[in-house]
Amino acid sequence: MSVTEKLLRVFRADQQLGGLQSRLRAAEKFLDEQNRLLVQIQAKRNAVNAQVKQSQAIASDHEGEMARFDVKIETLREQMNNAKTNKEYKAFLTEMNTFKAEKSNAETAALEQMGKLDELKKQLAEFDGQTAEREKVQKVAADEREKREAEIKDRLNQLQKERDALVKDVPADVMAMYLDLTRRLGEDAMAAVQELDRRRHEYSCGACQMAIPVETVSSLIRGSAATSPPVRCVSCGCLLYIEKEVAERLQPGQAKRGGKKQAVPHEEL
Ligand SMILES: [Zn+2]
Repeated sequence: MSVTEKLLRVFRADQQLGGLQSRLRAAEKFLDEQNRLLVQIQAKRNAVNAQVKQSQAIASDHEGEMARFDVKIETLREQMNNAKTNKEYKAFLTEMNTFKAEKSNAETAALEQMGKLDELKKQLAEFDGQTAEREKVQKVAADEREKREAEIKDRLNQLQKERDALVKDVPADVMAMYLDLTRRLGEDAMAAVQELDRRRHEYSCGACQMAIPVETVSSLIRGSAATSPPVRCVSCGCLLYIEKEVAERLQPGQAKRGGKKQAVPHEEL
């Protein structure tokens, strides 16, 4: 088995691992989104709650003012009852009317704050409703994530063990190159040669779709020996492999002779 074939087994295991984990990752993303929305609602609620506190303080200031005017008005009423002259009485009355007007202003302001408070409390209740709704979705999302994780746990462990065993067959330097390619190219770290037109010797890279010289294809076919180095796409750098059917179509002689070793005649390519 060639190095490329050994590496291909690791690549296939990685693809299976990626496929298994993608469902879990989708569930994790959905849960993260719910958490983010909950934090957002909470922040808005906190802002409104701060306004409620402020509004309550202002309303209670106005109520305090009203109480103080009541005391003053009561005092004046007694003074009016004990007034010695009409002039003195009228002076107290004028002063009392001023206090009554000021008390009325405080009352209007207090009522205004009460109205504002009602509105703010409605908003708070709305946010509480939104929080409760979102928490339900969050709970479902968290359960789903747990479920997905449990679902794939055994298969994941098994696949990981299989992959570890396959990795042992791949030379360390090739493995390092593969890991580097995986980081850069992801699922395109390895790609199959695509046969576009056999008669015209047109082949392309399965990852980047760029043309592959026929010499590269022949070296891939020749490279079935255990020591042959892996072949890379000159355009994207991915590791190339050739599907059996494509290789056999290029070596009809060998296929017919039951896989006997034979050099690929250049005319065939
Ligand atoms: Zn390529």
